Amino acid sequence: MATPPLLFLLGGRLGAPVVWIRSTVASVGASQTVAAAESKKDALLGGLLLPGFDEQTCASRYQSVYYRKNLTRQPSPYLIKRLRDQEALQRRCGPGTEPYARASERLRSGQTGAVDNDDDGGGCRYLVLISYRGLGNRMLAITSAFLYALLTRRVLLVDRGYGNTLPDLFCEPFPGTTWALPLDFPLDKEFRDLDETAPESYGNVAVNRSGSVSGMRFVYLHLDHAASQANRLVYCDDDESFLRRMQWAILRTDQYMVPGLFFNPTHQGELDRLFPRKDSVFYLLSRYLLHPTNDVWGMVTRYYNAYLSGADERLGIQIRVLFGGDKPAQHVLDQILACTSRERLLPGVVTTQGPAPAPPLPAAAGARARRRSKAVLVTGLSGWYHDSIREMYWESPAADGEVVSLFQPSHEEHQLWYQNKHDMKAAAEIYLLSLTDNIVTSAWSTFGYVGYALGGLRPYLMFLPENQTAPDPPCTRAMSMEPCSHGAPSFECTRKEIGTIINTGLLLPHVRACEDISWGLKLTDPDEV
Ligand code: GDP
Repeated sequence: MATPPLLFLLGGRLGAPVVWIRSTVASVGASQTVAAAESKKDALLGGLLLPGFDEQTCASRYQSVYYRKNLTRQPSPYLIKRLRDQEALQRRCGPGTEPYARASERLRSGQTGAVDNDDDGGGCRYLVLISYRGLGNRMLAITSAFLYALLTRRVLLVDRGYGNTLPDLFCEPFPGTTWALPLDFPLDKEFRDLDETAPESYGNVAVNRSGSVSGMRFVYLHLDHAASQANRLVYCDDDESFLRRMQWAILRTDQYMVPGLFFNPTHQGELDRLFPRKDSVFYLLSRYLLHPTNDVWGMVTRYYNAYLSGADERLGIQIRVLFGGDKPAQHVLDQILACTSRERLLPGVVTTQGPAPAPPLPAAAGARARRRSKAVLVTGLSGWYHDSIREMYWESPAADGEVVSLFQPSHEEHQLWYQNKHDMKAAAEIYLLSLTDNIVTSAWSTFGYVGYALGGLRPYLMFLPENQTAPDPPCTRAMSMEPCSHGAPSFECTRKEIGTIINTGLLLPHVRACEDISWGLKLTDPDEV
C-alpha cells in the first residue's frame, strides 16, 4: 500500500467556515497532495463524495481511500442524487441563512412549531441530534440521524455535545454550510435534559394526546436504546401525522436506528432505491459523513504507517469488557485466544517438554527466508490483554513460523466522558480498526460495531461471557458488516399494536436478530446469509 505524503495539519473544525474551492473540482485523484502512485483509486468513492472541498482542512476526506481496499459496495445513482439534494437543502436552510434565522426566531418566541405546507417556514424543517454516551454510540447515532433526515427531508444539525468534542473529531460533511448546531440555538441547554416524559415527546403526543399539536414549539423524538414502546412508534410514523408538520424535531438517540426505519411502509420504497444492497447502509453513509479531522487523521496515519502497513496481514482485536469493571479478566483473554485459534486468525505457540531446543543461527542477510508477518492491532481500555498475548509469542515460537507482532495505541484504563484527547484517541483507534483485514470484536460494543462496519468487514463477534467464564463457542462470524441496533421496534408498523411484542426479525428477510444480542436487530443481504 502506498504511503501518502504528510499533509499540513490545519484545524478543519466543525463550525469553522468551510472553504469551498471550485477550482479543484476537476480531479481530486490526480491531485499533487494525494499519492500520485495510486491515482487509479477513486477518491470520490463512486460519486459518494463531492470534489471541491479544501483538501488542507480535512485531509482524510480524499486521502482515506489510499489506506483502504476498493469499495465493496457501490453507491446507487439514486443515493448519489439524494445526497446532492440533501446538501442543497442543508445549504439553503442551514445556520446563517434567512430561513434558519426565521425558524430559530419562531422557536425562541414560543410560536407554534407547526408549518402547514411545504412553503410555510421557507420549506425548511430541522432535525437536531442530541449527542451523548461514548463515541461508538455517537457515531451510530449521527449516521442514523442523517439517514432519517434524508428520508424525512429535514436539515440535520448535530449538537456539539457537553464537552464540545465533536469539532475535534469530525470534519464538516456538507459543502458551504455547517452541520453543527449553533451555540445560540434558542433552546440552549434545556433541550439536552429532555426525556420521554416531556410533554413534547412523540410518545406523549401520538399516543396519549391523539396528535394534538396546539401550543407545541417542537416535537421530541426519544429513541434511546431503552425507549418506551410508545416512543418507538416514531419508527412507524406514516407521514400524515403531526410529525411532518412540526418544523423542529429534537432527536435523542444513542444507537443505530436504521433497521427500525426499514419497518416503516412509508420509507420502504425509498430505502430500496437508496440501498439495493441492504448490508451497505452504514458502510456507505459513514464513508460519506464521518471524516476524521486532521488531528485524528494524523494519529491514524502515523500509527498505521509506523506499525501496520508493512505487515502481510493485519488483524484487529477490539476488547471491551462491559460488565465486571475495568480489571483484567482471565476468562476474556481465554475467550480471545480460543476465538483466534478456532477461526485460524492467530497461530498457536510451540511448547516443548523439558529444555527448549537451540534456536537456529541467524541466516546471512539476503539468504534469510522471508517469513509471513501478521500485525495485530489490539484496542481496549486495559493494556493487559495486549501484553499477555505479546508475551506468549515472545516466550515461545509461533506454530507455523509466522511473525506475529502486537500493537496497542493507547490504554486509557477507564472510560472518560466528553474529554477531547480521550475521544480523539478513541476515534483514531476506531479508524485504525477499520483499516485491518480481519477483525475480532466484543459483544454488545458499539465501539466494535463502528470499527468493523466502517471498514466493511464481516467481524468475528465474541459472545458475551456469563458467570466470569469464556463462552463456548467463543465467537462466530457475523452475517453482515452492518452494526446491530439495540433499540429497534418490536411491533408491526401496519398494526401499531404496541402492547403486542412480536419477533420483527421474521417480518423482513433482510432484518435479522443480532448474533451477540438476542433482542437486537441488524440488516443483512438475504443473498449473503
Ligand atoms: P461501547 O460502550 O462499547 O458501546 O462503546 P462507546 O464507544 O459508545 O463507549 C465506550 C467509550 O469508552 C469510548 O468512547 C471511549 O471513551 C472508551 N473506550 C472503550 N474502548 C476503548 C478503546 O479500545 N480505546 C479507547 N481509546 N477508548 C475506548
